[in-house]
Amino acid sequence: MHIIDSHFHTQILKERALETEPSFSFLSGGIDAGCTEDDMEERRTLLASHPHIHLAGAMGPWCADKMQDMDRSRLRTLEDNLVKFKAAFLGEIGLDYYWNYGTPELQKSLFTEQMNMAKRMGLRVLIHCRQAGSDTARIIKKCALPRAGVIHCFEGSEELLETALEYGYWISYAGNLTYKSNQSLRDTLRRVPADRLLLETDSPYLAPVPLRGQPNIPQNVIHTYNCAAEVLGLSVEELSERIWNNYLDFTTPTLGH
Ligand SMILES: [Zn+2]
Ligand SMILES: [Zn+2]
Repeated sequence: MHIIDSHFHTQILKERALETEPSFSFLSGGIDAGCTEDDMEERRTLLASHPHIHLAGAMGPWCADKMQDMDRSRLRTLEDNLVKFKAAFLGEIGLDYYWNYGTPELQKSLFTEQMNMAKRMGLRVLIHCRQAGSDTARIIKKCALPRAGVIHCFEGSEELLETALEYGYWISYAGNLTYKSNQSLRDTLRRVPADRLLLETDSPYLAPVPLRGQPNIPQNVIHTYNCAAEVLGLSVEELSERIWNNYLDFTTPTLGH
């Protein structure tokens, strides 16, 4: 079986002393998401012996917290590092109104700047959206990207789901899919076309049931596979085949890039 994890954080995993070592050889593929403009060098080193894991880099919405105005020098550093460390994706970027980083205006302009950077560079994006479905949908429309991207850790916004699918995005579910109270999130699974679905851990966050509350590691993604397979009425083998093909479509560069 091919098992993938479309979104995790090697650097944050490394900073935590974990009882169980994260295993990348368990995975057939995966994407290591970036948090700031200058974290790629260290993650590139951490991933040196895992060529099947793709590197992504970007400034997440949390970067708006320490900014007064749009910091163009940080954006330039990001663009340089994406080239220098050969990042395959631009992410994660997006909006997080739960934690209220900076101001909504600053979060939106940081997100938009990086959507435009992705367009210039021909990169797909990894989008983070927490309690900001409408504004995220609006920016996806405004910055229509030819190569789209993925909504990572999808949390269930109807408006975002509709727009993201219309604009060619993939939808990735994390461990919160397995939480008992998240029936409405599980109900959205069937609305995602078979060829647009991805799964992830967002390690070290959001450990799935039965490991909820513990630090999460990529190999725990299997619990999310089990849950999604049950909701979709598929065997885990059938689902893993489907997700593997979607992952290959998502990660295979198109001509010219
Ligand atoms: Zn995120
Ligand atoms: Zn993340």
